[in-house]
Amino acid sequence: MSTPVPPVSPRPCGCLGCRMRHVTGPIMLITLGVLLALQTVWHRASFGHTWPVILIVLGVLKVMQYFTPHRP
Ligand SMILES: [Zn+2]
Repeated sequence: MSTPVPPVSPRPCGCLGCRMRHVTGPIMLITLGVLLALQTVWHRASFGHTWPVILIVLGVLKVMQYFTPHRP
């Protein structure tokens, strides 16, 4: 009789790599909100001119994720 394999824990891994992946979505939402607020609330810059910031932020996050691998 082999010992039963314990089920995979539903708790998220707390390593830096996993935390980095979990904050990607919220950071993108915050970035989008700030860019839209710049246009609609503060009338500073048109979203048509600032949208590439989203790509830059996403790229920076992806590079940071690359350097923070999953280490349970
Ligand atoms: Zn992890």
